[in-house]
Amino acid sequence: MTGRTSRALSASLDSLLAQGDPWVTIGERALIELLVELAPTGQGMAHLARYLRTTTARVADDADPQMPRQVQVLLRTIRGLGYNIELPRCARCGEEKLLVQTLHDGVRACATARRRPTRDVATNAVRSGRSASVVAG
Ligand SMILES: [Zn+2]
Repeated sequence: MTGRTSRALSASLDSLLAQGDPWVTIGERALIELLVELAPTGQGMAHLARYLRTTTARVADDADPQMPRQVQVLLRTIRGLGYNIELPRCARCGEEKLLVQTLHDGVRACATARRRPTRDVATNAVRSGRSASVVAG
């Protein structure tokens, strides 16, 4: 691990522990393992640290609609360990899915929502005689 990665890891850890539980209960050692697995590259860890440093959300409780994918994965892992976690929902379909894309206003949406045609595309398809049920799927 490079010094830069190590500093970002340390910053991420501090940010989470400063938010209290469940992070404090999970503990520093387990959190370090989770974070390294989650963001093995320096760039990934720096991104994670930046989000954790700047967000005003309580990460485990507030279901921040702008939460990066890494943090969503972290929360899913923590939930799998039995902790009570609130995950953000897709800005388009409202489902509690992994939100892999960022919309223009910074909120997150799932991969399925990206493939859904816009209203204009659907309208044009109907005009051109294709089945509306196909584009709605
Ligand atoms: Zn969605």
